[in-house]
Amino acid sequence: MIQSSILSGKEVSESVYSSLRSRIISLSNCGITPGLAVVLVGNNPASQVYVKSKTRTFEKLNLYTKTIKLESEVSEKKLLELICEINDDEKFHGILVQLPLPNHINADKVINAINPKKDVDGFHPENAGLLTIGSPRFIPCTPKGIMRMFQHYNIKLNKKHIVVIGRSNIVGRPISILTSLKFDGSNGTTTICHSGTSDIQSYTLNADVIIAALGIPKFLKGNMIKKNAIVVDVGINRVDDNSKKGYSLVGDIDWDEINGKASFVSPVPGGVGPMTIAMLVENTVEACEQAK
Ligand code: NAD
Repeated sequence: MIQSSILSGKEVSESVYSSLRSRIISLSNCGITPGLAVVLVGNNPASQVYVKSKTRTFEKLNLYTKTIKLESEVSEKKLLELICEINDDEKFHGILVQLPLPNHINADKVINAINPKKDVDGFHPENAGLLTIGSPRFIPCTPKGIMRMFQHYNIKLNKKHIVVIGRSNIVGRPISILTSLKFDGSNGTTTICHSGTSDIQSYTLNADVIIAALGIPKFLKGNMIKKNAIVVDVGINRVDDNSKKGYSLVGDIDWDEINGKASFVSPVPGGVGPMTIAMLVENTVEACEQAK
């Protein structure tokens, strides 16, 4: 059977780490270690897994990281006070508040409280605004990682039609902006589909590149893409099964139907996920260099 070429986040992230090494060494020669504070509220199992794999990567690269765990009942006021403390702590060049937060906490308020110069997730309105006008400071890690994969595999978006499925502030919205900005390697023509779009297939069938970021397992089927389209699967969905763990991680695309029809496809796991972590490291190193 013909297979699509793989957009391997595992491979691209390794090249990112190799190129970051010399920057980390130069900082270390000045006695500076890039530091990331991670705030984890509650016991969401998926959040715990994400935080662990992020902090493990920082430790492997000899970067400083500290996870501050708070009970799910913590008040919004307490959390905001903690953010203020981290903003003032010079050991931390980056701050990450793992989402989602419990319902009684206003996530926007928390994100707004982060010093935009330490906002390595790129979610603060100041950073979102800078991205929108084409002068980014910190680009959200998942969209930035997708663009880096395109660059690595020499995929140029100029003259291409990109369809993004999903419009979240974390993935869909920023990737729709990035793909359409007049940047080298970008400059594409982008359509955003979302929960209010009818007949999504009519858009995806006309797409050269599809970025699926909606959080519905196996949503994108083989008959929804044209032959040789480039497909990026952002989704990470836990689907119960009979395995030892009791679940498996499934993307937003139907791998069996897309693999072979697309020219390039990103797998889950091993696609966008490792790129998100690599870009978090890169943004933290950048924040540290800027603070210096
Ligand atoms: P979200 O729930 O915030 O947003 C989902 C978006 O999909 C919404 O904008 C909604 O309009 C759209 N949507 C929902 N149902 C739809 C439908 N039937 N048709 C079309 N659009 C629909 O989710 P998110 O935070 O953007 O995450 C999306 C997925 O990506 C999730 O599976 C998440 O776990 C995953 N994710 C992966 C990474 C990574 O590093 N690989 C990072 C972030 C999120």
